[in-house]
Order: sequence, then C-alpha cells, then structure tokens
Amino acid sequence: NAARERSLRRKSLQIRDQQQEWQDSPEGQKMLKFRRSLPAYKERDALLKAVSENQVVVVSGETGCGKTTQLPQYILESEIEAARGASCSIICTQPRRISAMSVSERVAAERGEQLGESVGYKIRLEGMKGRDTRLLFCTTGVLLRRLLVDRDLRGVSHVVVDEIHERGMNEDFLLIVLKDLLRRRPDLRLILMSATLNAELFSSFFGGAPMLHIPGFTYPVRAHFLENILETTGYRLTPYNQIDDYGQEKTWKMQKQTLRKRKTQIASSVEGALVDSDFNGFSHRTRDSLSCWNPDSIGFNLIEHVLSHICKNERPGAVLVFMTGWEDINTLKDQLQAHPLLGDPSRVLLLACHGSMASAEQRLIFDRPPKGVRKIVLATNMAETSITINDVVFVVDCGKAKETSYDALNNTPCLLPSWVSKAAARQRRGRAGRVQPGECYHLYPKCVYDAFSDYQLPELLRTPLQSLCLQIKSLQLGGVSEFLSKALQPPEPLSVQNAIDFLKTIGALDENENLTVLGQNLSVLPVEPKLGKMLILGAMFKCLDPIMTVVAGLSVRDPFLMPFDKKDLAESAKAQFSAREFSDHLALVRAYEGWKDAERQQSGYEYCWTNFLSAQTLKAIDSLRKQFFSLLKDTGLVESDKETCNKWSHDEHLVRAIICAGLFPGVCSVVNKEKSIMLKTMEDGQVLLYSNSVNAQEPKIPYPWLVFNEKIKVNAVFLRDSTAVSDSVLLLFGGKISRGGLDGHLKMLGGYLEFFMKPGLAETYLSLKREFEELIHC
Ligand code: ADP
Ligand code: MG
Repeated sequence: NAARERSLRRKSLQIRDQQQEWQDSPEGQKMLKFRRSLPAYKERDALLKAVSENQVVVVSGETGCGKTTQLPQYILESEIEAARGASCSIICTQPRRISAMSVSERVAAERGEQLGESVGYKIRLEGMKGRDTRLLFCTTGVLLRRLLVDRDLRGVSHVVVDEIHERGMNEDFLLIVLKDLLRRRPDLRLILMSATLNAELFSSFFGGAPMLHIPGFTYPVRAHFLENILETTGYRLTPYNQIDDYGQEKTWKMQKQTLRKRKTQIASSVEGALVDSDFNGFSHRTRDSLSCWNPDSIGFNLIEHVLSHICKNERPGAVLVFMTGWEDINTLKDQLQAHPLLGDPSRVLLLACHGSMASAEQRLIFDRPPKGVRKIVLATNMAETSITINDVVFVVDCGKAKETSYDALNNTPCLLPSWVSKAAARQRRGRAGRVQPGECYHLYPKCVYDAFSDYQLPELLRTPLQSLCLQIKSLQLGGVSEFLSKALQPPEPLSVQNAIDFLKTIGALDENENLTVLGQNLSVLPVEPKLGKMLILGAMFKCLDPIMTVVAGLSVRDPFLMPFDKKDLAESAKAQFSAREFSDHLALVRAYEGWKDAERQQSGYEYCWTNFLSAQTLKAIDSLRKQFFSLLKDTGLVESDKETCNKWSHDEHLVRAIICAGLFPGVCSVVNKEKSIMLKTMEDGQVLLYSNSVNAQEPKIPYPWLVFNEKIKVNAVFLRDSTAVSDSVLLLFGGKISRGGLDGHLKMLGGYLEFFMKPGLAETYLSLKREFEELIHC
C-alpha cells in the first residue's frame, strides 16, 4: 500500500510539472488569459473553498459564464496542485451527448492536451478516455449505468451534475440516488450547476447546501413583442397565408375556432388575456392584423419577414432563430433559400443547429462569417443553454418548443409544440446580449408571454416512467412509489402505477413487484424495456440479426429521410423495401441489409443517396447492434457464434412474430373500409398512420392487426411505425412471456398450431418448442 501511495504521489508531482509547463508556454499563456477573463474565474477561490468545506455545493450562473468548462477544471487543477492529480477522479454529467463531447474537447484544448489524456468523455456507444483520465464528461445516463455495477462509485472523488435547471428525468433521478450515496460516502463531493436562479430548490433538497452565484455580465437586450413588430414593420398577418405546422392550409373559419380555444388555453391563468384593450395605443392596422394571429402556427412567413427586416435595416451581427424541432427548421430553411435576399449565399449564411446533426456541420455555427455576410442560425432549444454562439446580436423566438408530455389518464405520450416557460423565453432573449446590446423578436403578443408558466414542468412529471421504474428495481432502491416520493417533485401516483403495470404486463416484474429474471436482463440493455425484451426473444428464437436491426433502429431514430420537397420520391423509395410485407420494421431490416452489402462494395454513400437513407443513422444502428451482441453474450443469452443465433433469421413470419411479442401491448385493429383503412386502439379509439409509414401507402392491409412501437398525440393520435400481424401471431406472441407464461404459451401453441399456421411454419415452431423446453428446464 505504501509503495502504491508513493507511486501515486510521484505521478501526481509529474502531472503538476506538466501542467506548469503548458501554462508557461505562449499558447498556454494565451489560453489562461482567456480563461481568466470569464466571470467564473473571480469565484474560483470561493468555489474551491466551498467544495472543500461542504459535501454539496449548488452553483448558479448565466450561460456562458464558465460553469461547464471551468468549474470541473478548477477542481482538477486544485487536486493537481495538492499533489492528488493521480488519485482524484471527477465526473461531470451532461444531459446531452453532443455537449459531453464538445465540452470535453474544449477543456482538453484549454489544458493543451489531446482528448483522452487527463480529460475524456463517455457517451452511449462512444467514448474517449484513457488510463490517466481524471476528469470525465459523460451523459447522465452513463453515470446511472455505472451505478448499476458500482453502487458506491468507488474511486470517484467529485461528481458534478450540470444543467440541473433543465430538470431532466435522469438528473432528477440521479439526485435521489446521490442523496443516499452521500451518506455512505462522506468523502464524496457533489457540485450542482444551474443556469438559472432556482438554486434554493436544490439547496433545500440537500438540507440547505451552500449556494454560490457567479454574477455574469451581459449587455441589455431589447424585447419586441408581436404587436411592436407589426407596428414598426407594418407587416400584416393574413389568415389565408398562414400555413399550419403540418403544412396544410387551414380555412379561416377553422383558424378562428382554434384561436378562440387556444386563447383560453394559453391564458388559463389570465382569463381572456388576448383582449383588445391590451393593444390600446396601437394602430388600427396592427390591431386588425393581430386578430388574424394564429397561435397554432409557427408562422413561417412572419419569421421570413422579420429576418429580411433585420438583414435590410439592422446593424451587423448574427441572428439566432429558435424553432421547435428538426422538421420545421428544415421547412423554414427550404423556404428561406428561395428568398431573393435570405437565400443569397453571398449575403446570408444560413445554418441549422439541432441535436442530430453531424459534428462538422456543428462547428460552422461557431465560426464567424466573412465580412458583409450575415450568419443566421436556425436552432432548437438546444441553443438556449447548452451551446453558446458568441456573435449573436439578434434573436427571433417563436415562443415554442417541442415538448414531450405524458397523458397518464390515457397512458399516451404526447409530443406537441407547446409554449415555453417565462424562464426559457428570458434565456432565449439573453442569447442576444453576449457581445453588444441586442434585440429580441418574440413572435407572440406580450400578454401571451405574461400567461406563460414561470418554469417548465420537470420531465419526471411529463414522461412515461417504465425505464426509470426498472432502473429503480435493478438498483435495489426499494419500492418504486416510495423511492420516487423522495424526488424533488414526485410524479403522480397514476403515472407510477401505469409504469409498474406495464412492467408486469411484459413480465419484467412479478405480481409482488419483484424483478424477474427477464427484468434483470432487461435492466442491463441500454434500450427501453419492451425493446430489450424483443432483443432477448430474438436471441432465444434465433433470429437475432433482423431483430437487433429493428431494436437499434427504434432506439436510435428512423434512417429513412423524408426531405420536404422530395417527399413523394422518398416515400416510394421506402416502399421498395417493404415489398408488400406491410411492415416498417421489416423495411428497415431490408434497408439496413442492403446498406451493409453496398458498404462491402464501397458504395454505401451512393446507396444512401438513391434510397433516401441517412448514412449517419445507419452507422449508429450498426454500432448499436455490435453493442447489443456483446451485452447479450455477457448475459449468456447468445453464444458467440453468429450462425446459431441466426438459424431462423430468414423466416419472415417468425421475425414478425418476435416484433409482435416485443411491441405488445402496442396493438391496433385494422378494418378495411371501401376506400380507406380504419385503425383503432383500445385506449384511443381511432388512430392514424404517419404518412411515411409503408402501411400508409397501402389501399388495403390484408392483416387484422398492426403492432407499433410509438404512438403520439399531435392533433390526433398517430402511429409512427407499424408491422401487420395475423390473429394467430397476436394470440401466441402478444402477451406475457415469462418463465411460467412461456410454458403456458407453449401448451397453447401445440393446440393452435394446426388450426392457424401454415404447415411449414408449424414445423419451425415445433422444433423451436423442443429447443425451448430444453432451455426452460436448464
Ligand atoms: P457555461 O457552462 O457557464 O454556460 P461554458 O463553460 O460552457 O459556460 O463556456 C464558457 C465560455 O467558454 C463561453 O462563453 C465561450 O466563450 C467559451 N467556449 C466554450 N466552449 C467553447 C468552444 N468550443 N470554443 C471556443 N470557446 C468556447
Ligand atoms: Mg454549461
């Protein structure tokens, strides 16, 4: 032990010398000068003192003041100075993969190192981390996964939880777990970082932990609300020009109805907020125009108008436009590209910024454009706090964000563009004042802003809790309800009950809410429980390859691209992969397999191009599949040789059945009407298919059921993806397959096989049955 101590100390001193050397170099000096100019630097000593004297410290400070890049680094530096550089281990969590990566890259550069030396990162599927990494940026999910195998976080000296103001589900969950852990690990230090001033909530959660605020400097930003914008620019909103979020022109009559409905919804707290008196003092023209305002619309024309107003009349400076998501960013980008001024690359540099774009594209956002060219960045709410674009002077805020919510009564997740909170709107505005006084154009009236809620509802209260409940069980944190009641803001009992019922339905929990063997296996797979179950079944039924593709596709994102202007072409390209199999999932399998073949012949990119597929997504699916395989091997569910686990992979009927088993209880019935297809689920009544589903193109579906992974309430309930299945498949595979259940299933299987199955299929199943019985008895 003493020898080990000595070697650690020697190493620590060595690290200290290296750091000194970098700081003395000209580049190091320059970097140091920049770092010392950040507001966080003034609080460096106070912060380090607070951390050494308290187990928990809450730090708040405006975006860009240096929390993420500096605070963990200060801790690292002070450990190095105290000759503990080789023994400390600091973990800093980020809610998003992209920020974990980009921040670690930045911090390594600030320390004059390569990524993977003392600073590294780890996100699902990827990482850059060496033996000597002492400061690790990871996603919150990665730390939660580590807690599964290392309950006490042995060897970790500091945990920094970043962006807690976002109140993400993982972060809220992590805080409950850490609160417990702090008792067992009195030497562990916890630092919470928030971009807004709601530190009290977190401080009191940790028994009155000290709070530290980093005062930041930003220039004043002038807010223009819709009425001012209309007044000064003379723009007229016309009802007939407005296109709603889904690209359909609405009739004026319908608009007026929704407007009336929405007025009360938006302003439920301020009854009738949108009354004329709010606009006293404005011209008739403006007031007239305002009555045409459609709160349901993103208002692409209005945005275009405001952007061209800025480009024509305003001083130089980049523009940041907050949109709700990837789809409308693309729609807007297409529209702007056709504009004579905004679409002229010699005058305007049009960029998009959202979570799923390539990192090369991301870097462009930070670069300054050539002189005389105005940079316009179309972004999601990602640019609110986790990404800082320094030269922004103008912000255009559509006032909405696509937010997931969860309707516990109907047990349905919803994804709706909804109004942001006051805090978020303020945050968006603040992005304009980083280098000089700025302007912010809010594309909604001031009275609507006044009706916004103060803060966004925490994610824990607006998402289904299945994965979380499974995690609580596998971390042995006790009863789910009891554990979640310890959260900052506990979820509704009904949501918790729905999640527990679901886990029982798929056989992850038994009647007494104890984790089953299936549940244990599911908890180590980095996918939703039902998809994990599909994987395990794929392994057991020896059709692993196609099932791994389906699960990877469903948990990454859809690789089929649907460009707005080539929708028809893209849809027919996708339909080719389906060959009347009536399954988006099988189409995905075909597309992936085709891509793998093309890759082998070095024509992967061409293949993607002609088939409207995203090469990036296919690559992500590919690496996720590799991860699945090694995890399944670890659990002993598959043997290492790929042939055995793919014995039945060519059997489309079997693959369909496993998809059904995994997606159950996501089922809807199919009724073929004269001219259309009518779909119904038990909970929602009629549901619709997204237009890019292969089944949406079919005049008839010759199967009585569709199983689906995701349904979402937009204006109606939509199914994103579906696979058609027969009665017999639903009967045999839909439902609980657990140890006992499987036996039951197999008995049933024997009885029904001759009735329902094609003879060839029956043979397949009978041989599987034999294999299964062996499996069950061992
Ligand atoms: P916070 O976490 O408080 O929002 P950060 O630590 O992320 O702030 O950033 C502090 C400052 O460091 C930013 O204002 C920006 O000037 C600079 N910075 C951050 N990331 C980068 C980067 N990738 N390249 C250049 N400068 C950066
Ligand atoms: Mg930050």
